[in-house]
Amino acid sequence: MIHVRRPPANKALPLTVRATMATRQKAVAQLGRGHPDIDRVWKNFRKTTVGELLADKLRALFRWKCAYCERVVTAGAIDHFYPKNQYPKRMFSWGNLLLCCMECNHAKGKTFHFLNGRPCFLDPTRDQPRECYLWDLQTGGMAPVPVAEHEERANFTRDELGLDADSLRIERAERVQNIIYFLLDVVKESPITDATKIKLRKSLTVELPYLGILDYLFHVPNHFTLLVDAARAKLPEIDTWLAAWA
Ligand SMILES: [Zn+2]
Repeated sequence: MIHVRRPPANKALPLTVRATMATRQKAVAQLGRGHPDIDRVWKNFRKTTVGELLADKLRALFRWKCAYCERVVTAGAIDHFYPKNQYPKRMFSWGNLLLCCMECNHAKGKTFHFLNGRPCFLDPTRDQPRECYLWDLQTGGMAPVPVAEHEERANFTRDELGLDADSLRIERAERVQNIIYFLLDVVKESPITDATKIKLRKSLTVELPYLGILDYLFHVPNHFTLLVDAARAKLPEIDTWLAAWA
């Protein structure tokens, strides 16, 4: 999971989309929690041109990746962070919508709990996952930070959404391993070859999955920090590439 900076609706969405969402929101104002029409209203909206335009904006914002697990999606589902059945007043609220994969969408379901007044689920557009998880760079595993403020929510989110599943661990570990090889090449080569620079730049592009663990590799002291710092000192462009998402 990686933090995603969400621009305000007036910067992110065309006026027509905002106007349509506001109109639709007004139309559902009278629907109470759990009203049987809620799903139908949303499904009908999704079939419209504006509904598709909104989905496109979310795909662009989240770079075609699930907001929770960072898997690349082909189309992706729109997740209502506050579930629309429980919170119909947030159904058309830009700040409540995230792109997510089918697995996370299904796992998140309709249950929504609070802990000390905050949602149990972490919201990658409001929370800073870097402060919530420790990553195992060898196995790709993730653990909640042992900090009272974050631990329970981080744990809940990881376990409810299956973010530490074997398949995700393996893919994350491979991502890290590849980057480590490229960083070793940067440190070893003199001068650094264009091929190495290109491989490293491409592997750090924002469109690729599992930036959360890479954010940890580059920004939190860890087993590889000496290597990371040496590569950065030798190839300062690394920081420019990271600035696109970190
Ligand atoms: Zn997901």
